[in-house]
Amino acid sequence: MKKITIAIDGYSSCGKSTMAKSLAKRIGYIYIDSGAMYRAATLYAINNGMIDDENIDEESLKNHLSDIKISFTIDPENGKQLTCLNGDVVEDRIRSMEVSSKVSRISALPYVRQAITDQLQDMGREKGIVMDGRDIGTTVFPDAELKIFLTASAEIRAQRRYDELKAKGEENIDFDEILRNVKERDHLDMTREVSPLRQAPDALVLDNSHLSYEEQDAWLLSQYERAASE
Ligand code: C5P
Repeated sequence: MKKITIAIDGYSSCGKSTMAKSLAKRIGYIYIDSGAMYRAATLYAINNGMIDDENIDEESLKNHLSDIKISFTIDPENGKQLTCLNGDVVEDRIRSMEVSSKVSRISALPYVRQAITDQLQDMGREKGIVMDGRDIGTTVFPDAELKIFLTASAEIRAQRRYDELKAKGEENIDFDEILRNVKERDHLDMTREVSPLRQAPDALVLDNSHLSYEEQDAWLLSQYERAASE
């Protein structure tokens, strides 16, 4: 089978990363979480006082863009991928509600998108990757051999996110706030000017609202086998 590029796009919290990781592990591909890069850039802006609830200090952010070094490492205990920002592991911090509530404003900035897109394209140069995000099949790898657009109802997605945060031991989480955040991010991601969340015309759509992990994994594996043998 030939080595291909697999792009998985879709709405917030619809399980893109779970699905992408599972396939990558099964077929020996590298998994790349593009959302983690936007989240890490957002954490950098928060840590350096460049963003609050209303404003972004764009001048500062632009000037410090080259200081934002994002990388991935593997947790030796469980083999899970961890996101690093300037050498520090920030995996948990980038999943916090604070980052979730600000990331879509940072990811709408054209120069942030350009910097991250360049890095993502570099990472995927050799193919053999599964990358998930919002614009992978449309902008980052428009020639990807397999493009998936994943969707599920907003309520189901918010419930999954709630369960995930709860399992991580995050306190004071509120379902309605998460649902609001999921809907708000969808709206901002779909309406931004640069590279909005959009289904690529040649993407295969999967609504996983009522699918088990096994069902969705089996579907994706069969799509991969077809695309890689064409
Ligand atoms: O995938 P995840 O929910 O972690 O992504 C966080 C945010 O990063 C999204 O809501 C979106 O604003 C941004 N993002 C993006 N383009 C991507 C991946 C993520 O704009 N390719």
